[in-house]
Amino acid sequence: MNNHMMAAVLYGKEHLQVEPVAVPTIESGDILVRVKVALTCGTDVKVFRRGYHARMIVPPAVFGHELAGDVVAIGEDVTNFSIGQRVVAANSAPCGDCFFCHRGLENLCEDLLFNNGAYAEYIRIPRRIVDLNTLVIPPHVSFEEAAMVDGDSRLGALRRVVLPLVTPGLAATAVFCLIVSWNEFLFALVLTQTDAAMTLPVGIAGRVTQYGIKWGAMSAAAVVAMIPILAFAMSVQKYLVRGLSLGAGLGVFAIGSSTTIL
Ligand SMILES: [Zn+2]
Ligand SMILES: [Zn+2]
Repeated sequence: MNNHMMAAVLYGKEHLQVEPVAVPTIESGDILVRVKVALTCGTDVKVFRRGYHARMIVPPAVFGHELAGDVVAIGEDVTNFSIGQRVVAANSAPCGDCFFCHRGLENLCEDLLFNNGAYAEYIRIPRRIVDLNTLVIPPHVSFEEAAMVDGDSRLGALRRVVLPLVTPGLAATAVFCLIVSWNEFLFALVLTQTDAAMTLPVGIAGRVTQYGIKWGAMSAAAVVAMIPILAFAMSVQKYLVRGLSLGAGLGVFAIGSSTTIL
């Protein structure tokens, strides 16, 4: 292993950059995991859009916190894991020592330790998470399934992660589909018979008669025909504008053979 790796570093609001960074070094209680699968959590999407999170991640930092992978190095104090094991590590661990932890309410821990850095080739799992929240993956469970312990079902991931991210693309596609179908001329001219079935361009073209061209009616109909398209385009334009800046970020999730978007 040379001591650099590729990683997706979060710099701020919708600013994510894939770049070489140093492979993390581990201390006596830590383990180093080669990431095989890194998922995109709903929290990642929120952080990506807002550029910060109150406690979980402080940019600039390697992004991502749901992962599964192979143990490639262990600290000298680590006894419960060995090199070569397939593991899944949670992104946090409670302190075990505060008011809430003493009462068995670890989810309210005042000193929760967070770990980020899943969108990289290697990630350091700190001692506390190694001790409390790292699990060996049984042979019949895939890395992808294991990485989802923190997360969601496939359908939930589609609804909460994928759909919000692709909305700009869907909006652009919807506008183009509407324009293309609304303006359809050739097939409608050949295939439709009745006034009720024909598209507007065919109807407007019908103002060209053997007695002359009805310019007034044609112009009026053309203007009216544009109104629904304009109204629709304006109603989805905020998604289109979002897409202009988001497109740059989306590509990042596809980079790196060991990183999948889910
Ligand atoms: Zn998560
Ligand atoms: Zn605590």
